Amino acid sequence: MAESIIKRYYDTLGEGKLLATNCLDCEGYTFPPTTACEYCGSTDLEFIHLSGKGKLLFLSHGVAPPPNARFVDIAPYAYGHILLEEGVYVQGIVTGVKPEPEVLQEIYDRGPALVEPDIIELQGLKILAFKMV
Ligand SMILES: [Zn+2]
Repeated sequence: MAESIIKRYYDTLGEGKLLATNCLDCEGYTFPPTTACEYCGSTDLEFIHLSGKGKLLFLSHGVAPPPNARFVDIAPYAYGHILLEEGVYVQGIVTGVKPEPEVLQEIYDRGPALVEPDIIELQGLKILAFKMV
């Protein structure tokens, strides 16, 4: 894995795909991909693509300013914890949701919602976000 994994991740995201690694020793998925397995530390890895489809487990919204100027244009936004169908936990912006307590409560009361990737572009950089199906 001599090439930059970060560059490969963002290039792949630009094609609408979620790049991860599969560990050939313990079969754990690491997402976003790194040079070693996050479960056992092995460097015997292969690249795979995750579906990005999953269940929205938790949804909230920030009250503080966005952590990076790149996100100012879309703030305020909803932010969620997602369990992908491959068993990987991901955190990300959830698009199409008004970040208001009443709206978030209604979604929470309905139970886990299904989500899929919604890759957005902010100031020239593709960002992995999710949208409810
Ligand atoms: Zn491993």
